[in-house]
Amino acid sequence: MIADVTRSLGTDYYLLEELLTDEEREIRDKVRAFADREVIPIINDYWDKAQFPFELVPKVAELGIAGTTIQGYGCPGMSHVASVLVAIEMARGDGSLNTFFGVHSGLAMGTIDICGSEEQKERWLPQMARLEKIGAWGLTEAKHGSDSVQLETSARKEGDEYVLNGEKRWIGNASFADLIIIWARDEADGQVKGFVVEKGAEGYSTELITGKMGKRAVWQANIYLENVRVPVENKLEGANSFKDTNKVLTATRGGVAWEAVGHAIAAYEAALTYTKERVQFGKPIASFQIIQNKLANMLAEITTMQLMCFRLAKLQEQGKMTGPMASLAKMNNARKARQVCAEARDCMGGNGVLLEYLVARHLSDMEIVYTYEGTDTIQSLIVGRDVTGIGAFV
Ligand SMILES: Cc1cc2nc3c(=O)[nH]c(=O)nc-3n(C[C@H](O)[C@H](O)[C@H](O)COP(=O)(O)OP(=O)(O)OC[C@H]3O[C@@H](n4cnc5c(N)ncnc54)[C@H](O)[C@@H]3O)c2cc1C
Repeated sequence: MIADVTRSLGTDYYLLEELLTDEEREIRDKVRAFADREVIPIINDYWDKAQFPFELVPKVAELGIAGTTIQGYGCPGMSHVASVLVAIEMARGDGSLNTFFGVHSGLAMGTIDICGSEEQKERWLPQMARLEKIGAWGLTEAKHGSDSVQLETSARKEGDEYVLNGEKRWIGNASFADLIIIWARDEADGQVKGFVVEKGAEGYSTELITGKMGKRAVWQANIYLENVRVPVENKLEGANSFKDTNKVLTATRGGVAWEAVGHAIAAYEAALTYTKERVQFGKPIASFQIIQNKLANMLAEITTMQLMCFRLAKLQEQGKMTGPMASLAKMNNARKARQVCAEARDCMGGNGVLLEYLVARHLSDMEIVYTYEGTDTIQSLIVGRDVTGIGAFV
């Protein structure tokens, strides 16, 4: 190998470090060290074989970060800035692991925190914070992705139970999760509501989606719900319309913008290290103007993404972040990080396509980040509607 491209360089050109609290620095360093020590050395093999690294789950639990910003219920109650740093550092280590964590901690725990009753939070969040119970989050259906608001999975109340029927697609962790949030349309009033299906429920089955080009070390599945009975206590008290689903999506969309930064930093740092050591035409390729121009462009994009993330987290902390603000960050960062990863790959020539040189994995993973939790186009339409006052999609 020409250069050890796995070393963290802690890219922070505008010294955002100075704006962090001691606690935020501590959380960042803890996750960074975990990524360097436990994740990067083993993850390529899992990614290559499309296996999920179950061995890392207890180690993530030990970090005590699940539930990130949630206060109480055994959750860390960290600042929004700290949760940004968690997403960046974990994605820098590996995107698949970050997606596993984002689905469990952000989407599943986040939904229970935002939409659950006190009793429901007490019942599920502490176990999820310890990763003794793993969460999944099922909104997307084969016929309804971008227009998930039109979902067809149904819920019918029968006595003290709801009966769920339908199919979900692309649901992370669904094949092994203990608690699966299912969004379904109540036959009584036509509203989309949230239900917690517990592992082992009769009529619940999954089929793993195989052959992915990115985020290969995390599993998504199709879910089949055939007359799955859930007790009324498992209907999330505050999940009563798609507006409630949207509250969760808004809260977690920032997380996707942040993970994009982690992918971009990993790729940029690998390219920087590599180009300083790779010699062509008798000189390190980092001495060529065009390579330096590429590196400067990558750094500029990363720095703007970092600043956007930091400000968005502050707005979220103050309760001022709107859905379109989160969409703008997701759109901007996913677009730019995808480009940074592609440039980094190019700087590394043929070696850039090899897993051992790290960038190929991040570049492939960025294709997923670009699409999930709302595609690039859909994010732009949300922002477009906000600034023009005219909805270009229903
Ligand atoms: C690896 C992975 C993990 C995922 N994890 C989860 C999960 O855990 N839980 C979950 O619920 N979902 C999950 N998803 C689903 C994801 O959120 C959807 O794939 C995404 O929202 C896009 O939906 P779609 O794939 O059906 O694409 P489509 O909606 O079919 O979009 C196809 C194309 O059409 C464009 N398009 C759609 N509507 C318009 C319009 N009005 N105007 C212009 N262009 C438009 C889109 O931008 C896109 O380019 C995951 C997806 C992937 C790939």
